Amino acid sequence: MAEILKGAPVAAALTEKLIEQADGLKAKGITPTLAILRVGENPGDISYETGAVKRCEKIGIDVKKFILPDVSKVLDTIENINADKNIHGCLMLRPLADKNIEKAACEILCPEKDVDCMTEKSLAKIFTGSPGFAPCTAQACMELLDFYGVELEGKSVAVIGRSLVIGKPVSMLLQNKNATVTMCHSRTKNLAEVCRNSEIIIAAIGKANFIDKNFAAPGQIIIDVGINLDSDGKLCGDVNFNEAEPIVKAITPVPAGVGAVTTAVLAKHVIEAALVMVK
Ligand code: NAP
Repeated sequence: MAEILKGAPVAAALTEKLIEQADGLKAKGITPTLAILRVGENPGDISYETGAVKRCEKIGIDVKKFILPDVSKVLDTIENINADKNIHGCLMLRPLADKNIEKAACEILCPEKDVDCMTEKSLAKIFTGSPGFAPCTAQACMELLDFYGVELEGKSVAVIGRSLVIGKPVSMLLQNKNATVTMCHSRTKNLAEVCRNSEIIIAAIGKANFIDKNFAAPGQIIIDVGINLDSDGKLCGDVNFNEAEPIVKAITPVPAGVGAVTTAVLAKHVIEAALVMVK
């Protein structure tokens, strides 16, 4: 039976440390503050926002919500967030309906407040290995591997997916830890074989139960980033858990895996952004 790598203990350990850091900041007169910018009433956005607010409340991070009915005031709002010295981080829930506005918003947000890595400047830092905030979900994978003591140096990792939110940045973060990464995508040939020959799999595809027993091998560690609904409308990952779990060494569940760590990483980035103010 595989070890089940749950996200809750990872989030709890991060949260405990962040509470101390938030208290330290408050003692110096700084209240760490996150701005959440949401356009419209998308249930997925509201659900993520609710989780983020709960996590921030627990830690002692203030949240200022900017809820807009449409995209017309997005850029003005970002400018206001940039100018507000009491706001340390900004989470803009994406995707926006208007891609041009989304791109413009990503260009103008101050990188120091870019706690979810939506600007090209922040992404460039991940790619050059400079200090900066990685996308929260990509970083959540790294926190999870670190918490469970998974050694990355020299390991072969198959990352499936090459989006700017997960696949590409997590590949860079893994390379920075000296893993040997194969970045796979929809045109990769012999994907199952590539996966079977890898010691670690990071699945970020967006296809319910896609990674089945043919992709799994004994001794492997599987991190499932996917959040999908199966044919019965039940939440599931990109990995067919029931097929892969009996074969591999360790695997994250969905739900309660990577997703449970993401808001803790967001909070960590807000605290780090606020800590810069006291340096
Ligand atoms: P995305 O932008 O749609 O990217 C999906 C990637 O998967 C693409 O690079 C695509 O390849 C690749 N792909 C699609 N079909 C494939 C196939 N048959 N074989 C191999 N590769 C294939 O998705 P995303 O935003 O990265 O999200 C991925 C998953 O993570 C989704 O399920 C999403 O809901 C989930 N997610 C989870 C969290 C969390 O906190 N846990 C946060 C955000 C997203 P091409 O580039 O060739 O098209």
